[in-house]
Amino acid sequence: MPTHKILFAASEAHPLIKTGGLGDVAGSLPIALQAQRQEVCIIMPAYHDLIIRAGKLTRIHPMLAGFHANLPKGMRLLEGTLPNSKIKLWLVDAPAYFDRPGNPYLNPQGTDWPDNAQRFALFARVVAAVAMNKAGLAWQPDIVHCNDWQCGLIPALLSLETARPATVFTVHNLAYQGLFPAETFAALNLPASLWGVDSLEFYGQVSFIKGGLAHADMISTVSPTYAQEIRTPAYGCGLEGLLNHRAERLTGILNGADYTHWDPQHDPLIPHHYNAQSPHNKADNKAALQTRVGLPVAADIPVFAIISRLVEQKGIDLLLGSLPELLRHHKVQFIMLGNGEPRFEKAFSALADQYPTQVATKIGFNEELAHLIESGADSFVMPSFFEPCGLNQIYSLRYGTVPIVRRTGGLADTVVDATPEALTNHTATGIVFNEATPPALLTAFERALALYQQPARWQQMVVTGMKQDFSWKHSAKQYLALYQRAVAWKEKDVQM
Ligand code: ADP
Repeated sequence: MPTHKILFAASEAHPLIKTGGLGDVAGSLPIALQAQRQEVCIIMPAYHDLIIRAGKLTRIHPMLAGFHANLPKGMRLLEGTLPNSKIKLWLVDAPAYFDRPGNPYLNPQGTDWPDNAQRFALFARVVAAVAMNKAGLAWQPDIVHCNDWQCGLIPALLSLETARPATVFTVHNLAYQGLFPAETFAALNLPASLWGVDSLEFYGQVSFIKGGLAHADMISTVSPTYAQEIRTPAYGCGLEGLLNHRAERLTGILNGADYTHWDPQHDPLIPHHYNAQSPHNKADNKAALQTRVGLPVAADIPVFAIISRLVEQKGIDLLLGSLPELLRHHKVQFIMLGNGEPRFEKAFSALADQYPTQVATKIGFNEELAHLIESGADSFVMPSFFEPCGLNQIYSLRYGTVPIVRRTGGLADTVVDATPEALTNHTATGIVFNEATPPALLTAFERALALYQQPARWQQMVVTGMKQDFSWKHSAKQYLALYQRAVAWKEKDVQM
């Protein structure tokens, strides 16, 4: 594979800043690409918390002359390195836009920053300038890899340039689209040719994600099943027409898991290490977890868990609809770590009050507890209505924590249902259910419990799951093939 120069643009990247799966991907894929001998640089907004975590940074005064004017005064680029890697990091430092603590997209009240359109339009302009080698960095990429709506304007702006790099746009979640009122288009001073239904306009609004979907040379999403699902009205969020129109350029590449962070054999955040050859220490982590969350320590009581953003997408209603019945009729424990919509947070807190010896609710974002839960729970539940890829089920497999998932998106692509046949030929890794209803989830829980009562079968599933390999190496090779296709499309389009 030839060496490409890749500019990887993202609004979050682990370990600098993370709100979900995009952060995991942006912190891992560039490293996996570098291991494939690619030259990769990451570019991100310089958020307050990120600057604190980024270590040594040097200032670069960019020369952005002549490229999409009206950049704020005092704006500069900072250069550093993605922690624990050799990946060059560029930060777009515009304090009035990004120097705010906490969540990169939400204010302390949990609602969108009112100037998100301005913030990510500025980011896109600077990335486009860097991509065109107009930022004084003496470097021009062959490929700009853009992620989610925050980067949507980048392919749109670059589509207006002739000697431009190829663009790839990856959808990590189609439900987040960056939609703003029509007036925003004029306020952002965007080129007039980008207004229209074949560009940024979406039913009279400005859609940032459409900038990527309509203009990128190639579009990808984070699992093959989700790539198919988003072409249907049920999952396409109104964008299925455009996605079908551009189906030749749409593909699905499963996210990898970063096993340097997520492997019970050497995870520094768990008390007892174990692996597929000797999974017994998992029992000690279970006791540590029960102690930590304040549940009775009992080896024989199955522990189910979820770690999640508490939003509708994740099937939280299904969970809350089935848990009371499960808890009433079965000797089980349930642990919930997450935060999000207040109604869900309240419902889980009420459940913990009602079943204090069975339910532990931990509201918040807690990386260390997430690792302990993965290592100590028996089973991890993800009843999502839709799931572009999902990472926790992949982590759960490696931690021997049998996943219970709904058959959608990346969940369908990564978990093998415990059918009688799959159990017999030792390919089963979890429980997969179809219907998005509380009774269907309850049945799935009960199937898991029936298998838990058969220790040999359960153990077989645990070990088969632990042996699955979803490392980034395989996915990174698929991205390289995607980049080649993007370059070929770009050359074709530029000639036209
Ligand atoms: P999404 O990106 O839709 O939130 P994913 O399963 O792809 O879902 O990725 C979620 C990531 O965020 C995982 O690494 C998960 O462990 C982490 N995560 C989610 N909520 C929490 C939380 N409350 N505390 C710690 N980690 C969390």
